[in-house]
Amino acid sequence: MRHFIFLFASLLLSACAADGLRVIPAADWPGITPEEMPRAETFRSVSQTVGKEARAECLRQRRVSNCDFTILVDLDPRAEANAFQTLDDKDQPVIIFTRSMIQSTKNPDELAFVMGHEAAHHVLAHIDRQSQNAQEGAAIFDRLGKLHGEDGADLERSQKLGAEVNVQVNVKEFELEADRLGTIITYNAGYNPLIGAKYFDRIPDPGDQFLGTHPPNAARIQIVKDTARQLGLTE
Ligand SMILES: [Zn+2]
Repeated sequence: MRHFIFLFASLLLSACAADGLRVIPAADWPGITPEEMPRAETFRSVSQTVGKEARAECLRQRRVSNCDFTILVDLDPRAEANAFQTLDDKDQPVIIFTRSMIQSTKNPDELAFVMGHEAAHHVLAHIDRQSQNAQEGAAIFDRLGKLHGEDGADLERSQKLGAEVNVQVNVKEFELEADRLGTIITYNAGYNPLIGAKYFDRIPDPGDQFLGTHPPNAARIQIVKDTARQLGLTE
């Protein structure tokens, strides 16, 4: 089983009560090395400032009613560099960073930007919208399949493909939406999203694939730059 460390939550007490979560300062991460310490401490302070800003943005936008973020670390040292957003058993948003993700960032701005992006997925209700898209996509392909006289296994295949195409197309759109709002959250939390987005320079570029889950890095960087300009931030 993976170990998670609880580092920040807007509702400290309820999070403490949750099973499997512990409140431990970065200095007490099991097996933490001296090299990991500076990033772990940065992660803690970024979690507090970005988490607070993400919650404020979530309450302002009112697209979702659950705005109490919990930010966790997946302590498995073998887990690859990754950050993602999900919901806990009480439907509250959880953002999880792997240990290697934290170490792979070069400065607080990069950490803040990745965190702002993940938080934005929740503020924009992407999980709900994604399952809705899958249902709509399946329904469209179902109608098309029937029009063309498909039945049985073929029809089922059409429905699945429809759901997949609709989800993937929208997933790319969601990524860009999250980059835009993530830029705003990062900026409002006191970090520089233009420096933060330099993280894209170091990750593999997925290019523009029809069924890819992520837009090309260039498109993502452009969204960040455009949004930063609107915020009055120049390079
Ligand atoms: Zn994303």
